[in-house]
Amino acid sequence: MNRELKVHNNLTRKKEVFKTVEPGKVKFYSCGPTTYDFAHVGNGRSFVVADLFHRVLKSAGYQVTFVRNYTDVDDKIINRAHELNRDPIEHAALFVKECEKDMDFLGMLHPTFTPKVSESMPEIIEMISDIIKNNHAYVVNGEVFFDVVSFKEYGKLSKKDLESLQHGIRVEVDDKKRHASDFVLWKPAKPGEPSWDSPWGKGRPGWHIECSAMAKKFLGKTLDLHHGGVDLMFPHHENEIAQSEAANNCPFCHSWAHNEFLNFGSEKMSKSLGNVIKIRDFVEKYHGQILRHVYLSVHYRARLEWSEEVIHRAIDEVKKIHEFAQEVEAYKVNSSSQDDKDLGSYLEKMWDEILNDFNSAGAMGHFFSFMRHVKGKKDQLSLNSYNKVLETIAFVKNTLGLISTDPSGVLRKLEQLEKDTSHLSVEADWIEKLIQERVVAKSQKNWARADEIRKELTAKKILLKDHPDGTTSWSVETN
Ligand SMILES: [Zn+2]
Repeated sequence: MNRELKVHNNLTRKKEVFKTVEPGKVKFYSCGPTTYDFAHVGNGRSFVVADLFHRVLKSAGYQVTFVRNYTDVDDKIINRAHELNRDPIEHAALFVKECEKDMDFLGMLHPTFTPKVSESMPEIIEMISDIIKNNHAYVVNGEVFFDVVSFKEYGKLSKKDLESLQHGIRVEVDDKKRHASDFVLWKPAKPGEPSWDSPWGKGRPGWHIECSAMAKKFLGKTLDLHHGGVDLMFPHHENEIAQSEAANNCPFCHSWAHNEFLNFGSEKMSKSLGNVIKIRDFVEKYHGQILRHVYLSVHYRARLEWSEEVIHRAIDEVKKIHEFAQEVEAYKVNSSSQDDKDLGSYLEKMWDEILNDFNSAGAMGHFFSFMRHVKGKKDQLSLNSYNKVLETIAFVKNTLGLISTDPSGVLRKLEQLEKDTSHLSVEADWIEKLIQERVVAKSQKNWARADEIRKELTAKKILLKDHPDGTTSWSVETN
């Protein structure tokens, strides 16, 4: 049975009960990356939010067809490939592969289809032809423009009107356009650029038409849910709506969801500001699970401020969650225990939060309460209660993806991180030697020397933990 989901729809600017054209089936499209370089942590937020939607829809009982494209034909790709003396399509293919690796690091489920622009040319050309046939586009010397004035509903998503757009935005002077907001559907290729034959001559598509055509190819004329970063709402998504509805004469998509930015201080992350962190670099230093946790620790429509503090909190929480999941696996059922009646309420609250416009942060808040409730109940749970615990953990793993499919791999990486002394002026060998010396001092009841060693290490930000079995472990203070 499908659970009722509410989604904030930017077309109406309201939170609405999510309805699909075909009952039980969702057609979902998310705008994917332009693959000219490694993806950065700002891109990653959009990837993971789409993955959250995908997982939640599936868990809620829908049959989901999820399409996320790769833009592999684009000015940025062509420029970068020319700098490197490479073929642009091959250059883009290389970074599609790298991007797929990053998405695996982020624990993402694979979409149903991941089309590339270079492989969708017949559909793109067909759609442009339909738009021209329906009198919503015009051709000037091998260039095709969308005629925004002909599309009466232009601006319905971004809530902009053509009048203010005409005066309000700075656009390059282009005599070929009838209106400043008219946008390119097809442009003639320059020498050395990838190009395809078309009724308007050799050329390549504009950016916006790609998504309209790929969405139609795999999902049909009308979608249920469309997602992207909030920066794509205008003009990209506005233009997608105009193109698709002008070509198909029916609504393009019923529900539009946009995730907010990832902010660096007060600045949005951008290559020009030089504050770009690649997903790959973050994953190598920390772990993809940490980054995923950072993204989902706030609601997707809230701004996320990037800081050391946010990363350290994520490290802490990821560790607690994964240790808890491992610990619970070893619990033994107690057949003489009564069922814990309160235990099921946590999962219900988590469902309520996630079905309320995908509130991952709210759902995790209840999971932390749940962990506190269960901790210390080792070997005391009845079979029913133990199964409820496993079900709740499975929700975090499958519906949120906030427990890794490889929990011991995550914990191993975190342990390495705790022992990472590269930013300190000390070596692990030196620490181990002092710990050994302290063990000997303690065995000789030389408490003064044992204490002195602890202080010496604390001064270097090394924290010691004595265990009941007489061993001592250490970690690097993280703040
Ligand atoms: Zn798009």
